[in-house]
Formats: sequence, structure tokens, C-alpha cells
Amino acid sequence: NRLVTEIAGRPIENEDLVNLPNWLPLTFRIEGGAWFALDQVEVLDYQQVLDLRKGVLTRAVRFRDGEGRHTRFTQRRFVHLADPHLAGLETSFVAEDWSGRLDVRSALDGTVTNWGVPRYRKLNGDHLAALETGTAGEDVIWLQVETRQSRIRVAEAARTRVYRHQAGEREAVTVERSVDAEAGFIAHQFSVGMEHGHAVSVEKIVTLFTSRDRAISESGLAARERVRHAGGFEDLLASHVRTWELTWQRFLLSIEGHDRAALVLNLHIFHLLVTVSDNTIGLDAGVPARGLHGEAYRGHIFWDELFIFPFLNLRDPELTRSLLLYRYRRLPRARLAAAKEGYAGAMYPWQSGSTGREESQLLHLNPKSGRWLPDASHLQRHINIAIAYNVWQYFQVTGDMDFMASYGAEMLLEIARFWSSISTWNPELERYEILKVMGPDEYHEGYPDTEMPGLDNNSYTNLMAVWVMCRALELLDALPLQTRRDLEQRFLLSAEEQRRWADVSRRMRVVFHADGIISQFEGYEDLAEFDWEGYRERYGDIQRLDRILEAEGESPNRYKLSKQADVLMLFYLLSAEELESLFNRLGYEFDHELIPSTIDYYLERTSHGSTLSRVVHSWVLARSDRVRSWDFFKDALESDISDIQGGTTAEGIHLGAMAGIVDLVQRSYTGLEIRGGVLYLNPLLPEELTSLECEIRFREIWRLRLHVSTDRMVVTASSAIDGPVTVGYRDKVVDLRKGDSYEFDLERWADSTVDSAAFHT
Ligand code: BGC
Repeated sequence: NRLVTEIAGRPIENEDLVNLPNWLPLTFRIEGGAWFALDQVEVLDYQQVLDLRKGVLTRAVRFRDGEGRHTRFTQRRFVHLADPHLAGLETSFVAEDWSGRLDVRSALDGTVTNWGVPRYRKLNGDHLAALETGTAGEDVIWLQVETRQSRIRVAEAARTRVYRHQAGEREAVTVERSVDAEAGFIAHQFSVGMEHGHAVSVEKIVTLFTSRDRAISESGLAARERVRHAGGFEDLLASHVRTWELTWQRFLLSIEGHDRAALVLNLHIFHLLVTVSDNTIGLDAGVPARGLHGEAYRGHIFWDELFIFPFLNLRDPELTRSLLLYRYRRLPRARLAAAKEGYAGAMYPWQSGSTGREESQLLHLNPKSGRWLPDASHLQRHINIAIAYNVWQYFQVTGDMDFMASYGAEMLLEIARFWSSISTWNPELERYEILKVMGPDEYHEGYPDTEMPGLDNNSYTNLMAVWVMCRALELLDALPLQTRRDLEQRFLLSAEEQRRWADVSRRMRVVFHADGIISQFEGYEDLAEFDWEGYRERYGDIQRLDRILEAEGESPNRYKLSKQADVLMLFYLLSAEELESLFNRLGYEFDHELIPSTIDYYLERTSHGSTLSRVVHSWVLARSDRVRSWDFFKDALESDISDIQGGTTAEGIHLGAMAGIVDLVQRSYTGLEIRGGVLYLNPLLPEELTSLECEIRFREIWRLRLHVSTDRMVVTASSAIDGPVTVGYRDKVVDLRKGDSYEFDLERWADSTVDSAAFHT
């Protein structure tokens, strides 16, 4: 939903992912006293447990109230994984040493606003207009609201039932209900008699529908009907837990040797799956940078998908396919954006929302200085690399030619077209250049003391733009001839344009420092060195140097400092061989020694102000410096569970870092790469781990189990596969059929057969 706020005398429009009506309110009071509040009683015991395996959150509280009575309650809740329209909340009360009346109030609250991020609070966050409230039958209340501008209707219905528990038996209790309703809010209130020592439970089953849902007549009707036919809490819980069990089988990733890391990896997979899952397939949804967990970045979709999709490709490729279609539907908008700037092809926005227009804000608030500042981050055109890379990766893992012919090719070709058209010829240097853009490092928005934002020849952008053009040409050759002809005709893709891509991708400029280090951008080498020690001493936490420097009246543009990996993204996305072939194509010399020295150079100049940075650093060091890589791994792992940025987790999880670190275990520690339809593995575990196990899906092969320990790797094909799967380790390539296992001896680099695996070499 979009709302306008006046800031610094200007009307500013923002689009937000809207906080929906709260389905959780359920409170109680004893004998007509005050409604329960944790801070008004003496809490004797409090426990909160998130069961990752079952997807259930449980709170258990025991307290003494002002009258000296002891009461305990246990509350369990879930949002159903098999039926995303359903949620359940069960509260079970025990009066330990008293008997009497318990009043319960169960509500739906549509008066909520977007209020979760303090620095956005000056912006209008009142997105919901109240429409209707009502009751349906004995035990159901419902409400409907509508987003003010996008006019999406949202309806919730809640069915609250009461049960008495005695001697292992459960008996439904009929209660007299009163209704309390006001605009956007409705509650059922009732009383139940408590006997000391016996439990009473209250079950609240909630349904949620919106006017965007399919196969419904109207959202309010759908919510009411569904809640009437929904099962009880235990039945719903059982089917929910069963779905989680099946889901965990598919997303298994276990490590041994480090219990904390093993647990946190599962926590990350859990959070990924409550954001996107099979339930997302078919929706018009991408992956918001902060999950569905908080309001930071307003639910916008950035390049963070680059860190998320590779893990999903190998587990649930239908899901990635669906998420890529979010971008496909916004291709017309991206074409428009390119045309408006005078470019050909498609230019996707840095921040994407409902329509695919640019959602990056024009002004942002520095909470440290209290100043609203111009924001040039939309110049991060490299988002168009991330989308192309994700299309290509999906294709490599699945071989899904239908997707490429219908959607993928169009996105890839239009993006290649954009990169070719933004590249300008420098006749003096006889090289193509990409000018006035920003790389992933957001600390540098422009050159020191200039008004005009943007930097020239960002190496990550230039080299990856070449990569995109190469992949587009490669794809055209791989497509069935008729599909290629059709595409060329539909998009007026002439032989001349293809020749230009070939030319640009051979003569793009890459800027190097005098000593051969790849420059982050042209001119980076001339910037001043930054006083890291001094600032660390003065400020302690210097992750957000941009805010610190601006508050001092200074600018990061002057210094050799980075918020996050920029040049190093090249080593994250491409293997050394791929990078070498790009350099060769461009006529630059590639010295393998360049990799460690470039890593060292930027490592010393990076503040890791984005959680993505540690994932990349851990990855690029995984083989050359396992100790430092493990340190980054541990820090990245802790990003949210320990809120290492000091307060940002409450504004939403960092899903790119969460999924990126899981993917690191899955692909980097196993050395997994797909080349020419063969799944190559080349494992190397960190010293701290003794083994790793995961199950992946590769080209319709469902499933392939990998078990890696320090000296051996066993690959097992499921007994349910059809064709053979080809797996390689170094120069050995074997075919696995139904149920085959193959054991690779990592220490001797030799191999031994188990069962009937056949050899290629
Ligand atoms: C990072 C970006 C990222 C965004 C959303 C920013 O702090 O610098 O790279 O895309 O957060 O997660």
C-alpha cells in the first residue's frame, strides 16, 4: 500500500508491506479483577520455546497475582504450513490454589499500523481502513479491513471454543458470550468457572483471506466459511506437524562437530521456510530482504535473492521458478524504466514492490544526525546482474528449457540488451565503459566533492555485465532453433545486435590499481586511507560508518572504505576458472595470485555494515584461509540470533545472510558445482566440523544424499529415481542409478565402488 508523507517540505510517497490485523489477542482476568499483564503480577516462571521441527511456539507462565492466588497457563500457537489460511492458538489455564470465575476476551484487531521501525515513525503508517465487523453463529467473530490506496480487502474470522479437562477427559463448555466491537476491532468475551487444580483450555482458530486469493467469492465470506469447517486445534496441529516433517526431510542439512552452528543453521532454514515455501508457489511474490518478520525496508525486494535462490534451487526448484516469475511479470515496467533513461532492454529497479517501479526512497533519515539526506542507491544497476544470474543458476540446476523458452530467455536477453546499451565506447582507450552507477558497496555514492551521484567503471558491474552478455549469447546457441528464431523475431534481436554483445563483452574496461589489484571503481586508488583504529577507538561499533561520518559532516566518498563486499562479489559468484576465462576474453592477464591479494586488500578496508558481507567473505576465504573464513561464518551465523547489529533484528530478519550461510554449507563446503549437466563435488570441511549431510535435488533427481566427512564422501541416489545421475569428483565422473551409493576417498583422491556405479573415466 502506498501513502504520502510530507518530509522536509516535500510530499514523499512510500510503498509498504502492510502489517495485517492482529489475530493473536487473547487475555483474561480473575474474578473481575484487572486484565492480565505480565508486569502487573509476580512472574514465578516464564518459558518460551520455538519448536523448529514442529513449527510451534509455546509460552508457559506461572504467576502470583495481587490476591496471592497462583495460576499457570500454557499457550501454543502455529500458522498452518499445509493450509496458509489457517492459524491456531490454544491457551490452557490451571488455577493452582483457587476456584472462581475466569473472564476471557478473544479479539481480532484491525487498528494496527506500521510502527515497527523507529526511524520510519515520522512517515505515515496508517494503511488500513476499517470496513466491517460481525459475528457468525455462536462462536465466530470476524472483521474486514481494506488497504487505503491499493484497496486490498483482508478478512479474518476467529472461532473461540472452551473446554474443561478432568481425569484425562475433555468436555466442551457452553459459555454466554458478549460482543465488543468498534471500528476495525471486535472481541468475544465470556466467563468460565475454574476449579482449583483442573485445567480449562480456550481454542482460537483463525482464518485469513484477502481479495487477491483465488477460488473464493469474497474474502469475508471465505474467512467465515472456512473457519466454520475447520477442525479443532489438535487435528490442525497434527496435519501441520506432518507437513513440517515432510518439509524438513526435503530441507535436511545437518553438520556435526559444532552444536551451536548446527542449531542455528536449522533456525535459518526455518525462517526461510516461514517466508517462502510451497505455499508461495503460484503467488505473485518475491523474497523481501527482511523476510515477513518486520517492517524494515518496507517488504521491498532487493538483490538479496542472489543469496537465497541458490539454496532453494537444489531443494525446491518449483519455488524458485515461481519467485522468478515475480520478476518476469515486471519486465514491461523494467523496459519502461530503461526507455525513460534512454537505454534499450530492461532495467529492473534496485528496490521492487507491487508494480516493479523503483521503490528506493529519494530521501533517507540518518538516525545519528537526524538529517534527511538524498538517496542515490537506485543507481545500483547491478540488481540486473543478480536477476540474470538467478535465471541462469536455475537453468543450470534444473535444465528447465520450457521455463527458459517461455520466460527465462526473455529476461536474460532484455537484461543483456540493457547492459550493452548502457556501455559507452571510449575511443581513446578503445574500451567500453559503464559510467555513473553504484556498486554493492553503498558507502560510495559518488566522487568526493561532486554533486552528481554515481561512479565510473565499477569492476563488479563491468565484469558481470560481460558475464551476462556471454550467457545470453550462450543461451541463444543452446535454445532449440525454432525457439531462437521466434525470440529473435519477437524482440527484433538482429544479428548486428548480437555482434555488438560479442564486441562489448570482449572490450569492456576493467580498472586496476598500479599493483594489479582490481579497483572497486575508477578513482578508488586515489581516495584517502581511512583511520580505522581511530574510529574504532572513538566509536566502538563502526559497522555503519556512513551514518557516523555524515553526522560528523564528513563523507565516506572520500575514503578507501567499503560497507560490504563489492569487488569480492566476483569471487563469490564465479569460480577462478570462470573469472580467468572472462579476463582472457577481455584481453587482460589473469594472475591467480591476484585473488588472495585482492581479498586481503578489501578485507582491510571493509566495515561489514551489511550482514551479507560476512557471508561473502567467509565464502571467498573458505579454501585459502579456513581460520578466517570460520570466523566470518560464525559472525554471519549470529547475525540475527544474537542481533549483532544491535537492534536491527527486531525490524526483521536478514534473510539474505540467513539463506546465504546455509547455502555456503551446502555448496561451498561440498564444493558443489554444475558443469555440462554433471554435478561436481569437491568437499572441504572447516576444521571445526567432522561431518556434513544433506539431500539435494538435481535435474529431476529426487533425491541425492551427500555425506561428507573429513576423509570420505558418500553420494547415494534415492531408490525412487528414474534416469542415472552423473556425479564428479576431481577427474572421476560416475553414473549413479536407483539406490546406488558411491564412496569417494577424499584423502587418497582415489575412489572405490560400492554397488553398481558405472565409470566414465
Ligand atoms: C545492503 C544491501 C541489501 C539491503 C537489503 C543494505 O543494507 O547494503 O546490499 O540489499 O540492505 O538487505
